[in-house]
Amino acid sequence: MGRRERKALTDHRAPDAEGTPDGGAAGGDHAHLTDSTVSAGHLVEVADGVHAWIQPDGTWWLNNAGAVTGGDGTLIVDTCATEARTRRFLDAVDVATDGAPVRFAVNTHEHGDHTYGNSLLPAEAALIGHEVMREHLLVDPILDGCPPVWAPVPDWGGVTRRVPTIVTTTDLTVHSGSRRIDIVHPGYAAHTEGDLVAWLPEEQVLFTGDLLFVGLTPLVFAGSVDGALASLEWIADFGPDVVVPGHGPVATGTDLPGILAEHERYYRFVLEVAADGRNAGLDPLEAARAADLDAFAGWSDAERLVLNLHRVYADAEGRPMDLMAAVLDAVTWIGGPMTTHVCCLG
Ligand SMILES: [Zn+2]
Ligand SMILES: [Zn+2]
Repeated sequence: MGRRERKALTDHRAPDAEGTPDGGAAGGDHAHLTDSTVSAGHLVEVADGVHAWIQPDGTWWLNNAGAVTGGDGTLIVDTCATEARTRRFLDAVDVATDGAPVRFAVNTHEHGDHTYGNSLLPAEAALIGHEVMREHLLVDPILDGCPPVWAPVPDWGGVTRRVPTIVTTTDLTVHSGSRRIDIVHPGYAAHTEGDLVAWLPEEQVLFTGDLLFVGLTPLVFAGSVDGALASLEWIADFGPDVVVPGHGPVATGTDLPGILAEHERYYRFVLEVAADGRNAGLDPLEAARAADLDAFAGWSDAERLVLNLHRVYADAEGRPMDLMAAVLDAVTWIGGPMTTHVCCLG
């Protein structure tokens, strides 16, 4: 194991991030308040001055983010879903970097778990995103009020809509102090239409956003299953030493082939269930009910199968996906709202 990989194991937990969730947190007495796998988040220093913000257990709305500090300031990779969680992240970065000013931020994609906290970034920080991501965040209705399809229904707190001021449709490079950060688009829709990864060529660290979910069910209903499949080889070609996924724990370059293989296995499974379902005249919900998910039983958020099938059906039929129908089918499939722990500890 090389120096950088050992560094990836250095885990700097904020003093207030240890232990089990606080019973006084918003959301009442729901069971996950006693679940020790859910915590407030913690920084992992994956290379000197490069941090990942990891929010266990990585399920709905609990994303990872990052901070790259060098020379005269910090570049932030993504924010969090709620005011409280974003403040915890930014405060932890401030402590870990001796108050280095945040000069840049990048959103890996439009989803609220990575963007709703944008308004808590310093006003003078330049915010970067894909052009399509900016357009989608401008009209995202869930920021204004989350529908009761998740339970407990998330309350984002004191955040307002803030979209990137610098956009790209391809790639761009940020020189932040001594750091070089390449912001790269795969060239096609994968997790969403406007995915960006942040690649540090000197440190060999890759922030993938939601192109990777480590140990959790991947979600691709806002993008393309075929694109998500193609993106796996594209990710491998970076040859990173350290990978910070959009959800789940930090991984090493050694871990990556296995992680990519699991994603490929899942995406091919989704395509197969969709093909069989369409051949049998089943709708996406019926196809999901007929599917055998046993091979992925260890992954949370299994209802994403229904959402992912809606994407494959829509693409196969050459029509836009009906987002609300997809979400309601997912809720029907599990027999109630989808579970989120985002309220816990904030
Ligand atoms: Zn996410
Ligand atoms: Zn996402």
